[in-house]
Amino acid sequence: RAKHAGRGHACFFDAEMDKAVRTRRQLENDLRQAILRRQLFLEYQPIYDVGSDSVSGYEALLRWAHPDRGVIDPETFIPIAEESGSIVAIGEWVLQQACQEATRWSEPANVAVNLSPLQFMIPTLYDQIERILRKTGLDPQRLELEITEAALMRERTTVIATLQRLHRLGVRVVMDDFGTGFSSLSNLRAFPFDKIKVDRSFTGALEHDPAARSIVRAIIGLGHSLNMPVVTEGVETETQRRIVIEEGCAQLQGIFFGKPDVGPSQFQSTLNKVVGQG
Ligand code: C2E
Ligand code: MG
Ligand code: MG
Ligand code: MG
Repeated sequence: RAKHAGRGHACFFDAEMDKAVRTRRQLENDLRQAILRRQLFLEYQPIYDVGSDSVSGYEALLRWAHPDRGVIDPETFIPIAEESGSIVAIGEWVLQQACQEATRWSEPANVAVNLSPLQFMIPTLYDQIERILRKTGLDPQRLELEITEAALMRERTTVIATLQRLHRLGVRVVMDDFGTGFSSLSNLRAFPFDKIKVDRSFTGALEHDPAARSIVRAIIGLGHSLNMPVVTEGVETETQRRIVIEEGCAQLQGIFFGKPDVGPSQFQSTLNKVVGQG
């Protein structure tokens, strides 16, 4: 029966495939121009600190304002940037932009930047970050680098060495999306992490799935004994907030506290000047 239905379907499928491939190639080309054409921008999402009962930092989240397609999410274009190699230039732009903008914030909050595993493949990553910190004047203690376990798969000794040097510089290294993908407990021992971020899929399941709560509890316990504070991301409801605080989570992030946005009154100083002059 498959053979009978096959032909028409195959044509339809081919046409769809073809369209998808062309769209992807188009995006890939557009992405190469995105930095020069100033189409990339960052949004900042608050990270709430339980101990001080205040927002202690912001995560920089990359957006692409495409001229025809509107604002595109990183989950759509980062994989394309990784495949085509443009992630290296984009990643450097993100670091530079986030550090620069953070120096202009109205409060000296921490800024968290996501790094693609591919950025660890360039031997000059450490020098790049050191130079950006020096040029922007951002205190290294305010910078957090979020990496996923995919970054730890290859060239482990090189990655460990880079993370250790960054750590000595005062930068904090955060394991992102912990509990999914290639999660391995030995990574927590082998790499110098300062903080663990629990994947948001667990947070979303907390209210109806007791297993999710048990896993979050276990990760927090692990973090405690390894001296690594645990952050929960994707906190959307009051109940989720209550549960993760009860479990001893150190920091919380999610739309319950604030959506990704412009950051801590970034234009405050300019505004004051304008108002002051008026
Ligand atoms: P991530 O690092 O885990 O970032 C958190 C994601 O969760 C963000 O998605 C954020 O908008 C979303 N989020 C925030 N609050 C909530 C909530 O309450 N509920 C739910 N369901 N989601 C929430 P976004 O901005 O679409 O980014 C997706 C991923 O793209 C990030 O996941 C990160 O892995 C990657 N990414 C973002 N910016 C960059 C970047 O500059 N460089 C690289 N290499 N990757 C980036
Ligand atoms: Mg998104
Ligand atoms: Mg992140
Ligand atoms: Mg995450």
